[in-house]
Amino acid sequence: EQIRAGIIGLGAMGIGMAQTLSRNGFEPAAFDLSETALSRATDAGAAAMPSAADVFGAAQVIVLSLPAAHHVKAVIAEAESAGHLAQGSAPRIVIDTSTSEAEISRALASRLAAAGHGFVDAPVSGGPSGAAAGTLAMMLGGEEAHVARAMPVLEALGQKIIHVGPSGAGNVAKLVNNMLVASHMITTLEALKLAEASGVSAEAALGVINAATGRSAISEIHYPTWVLPRSFDSGFSTGLMRKDVRLALEMAAAKGCAMPLADLVAELWSEGRSGLADDDDFMLMGDPGAARFEG
Ligand code: NAD
Repeated sequence: EQIRAGIIGLGAMGIGMAQTLSRNGFEPAAFDLSETALSRATDAGAAAMPSAADVFGAAQVIVLSLPAAHHVKAVIAEAESAGHLAQGSAPRIVIDTSTSEAEISRALASRLAAAGHGFVDAPVSGGPSGAAAGTLAMMLGGEEAHVARAMPVLEALGQKIIHVGPSGAGNVAKLVNNMLVASHMITTLEALKLAEASGVSAEAALGVINAATGRSAISEIHYPTWVLPRSFDSGFSTGLMRKDVRLALEMAAAKGCAMPLADLVAELWSEGRSGLADDDDFMLMGDPGAARFEG
């Protein structure tokens, strides 16, 4: 039997997921607070719903692509008030692709499980183009049975699907991954500025780094795609990068894990040090031509 999917949050990532779900026959029921986002989803083949709760009413598997945990809690609470997550109602599986706190994923999963529903934390990597192509990397936290029920939808959205462990494990893995991304942006920038100041162009230095041991996704993909051509339109905002660094540091503090470099990385990403606004594309951090961190 064909699963009906839902999607809530149709921003840079969610709109591509709506397209992918539609292309794969899941007839997604969609909602976003923004009218513009919702009408783009209709163009992409989704059915616009009047509220988040209505998405839960229409679908068995509901994908969330929201900025942060408090938005996730808000839509779950709405669905609960509307009775769609009550004990005895048709079982729902929530796939939360938002980057969020592991603790909150655990709490939501146990609350939903108590009423017979599933919640899988499934943060993603691969950007808006990966969402639109259905080639995301997805890192899952949740019970085996819930992951199995979510799998047809996960397989449409993702190419590398890794079940990391129980609830929260997906977000733990995502936050440590993005802590590295935040660091690589700055270490790569510093390396390229030093090369340029010493007479080797950023292009030439990147060519060497990518053939040698200093490489990362930032040097292999992000710099050639968004920095050197100076388009700075990766679709991931500086505000979301700051959120990820903050959540990683909160996790470190809670576990008593010393992260001296991460502390400095967080400071360098701040508006005061980087000069970047929350709405700026995060790739602007990598501009070797900007006078960042000088003086
Ligand atoms: P975005 O800000 O572009 O989109 C978020 C959307 O959620 C917006 O359209 C907003 O209107 C909507 N929204 C907010 N509250 C809502 C509510 N209560 N009900 C319905 N809609 C609501 O963000 P994004 O870049 O698409 O990122 C989404 C999530 O994915 C974030 O957690 C982010 O950290 C993560 N992520 C983003 C990327 C990327 O490259 N952009 C990559 C990996 C992970």
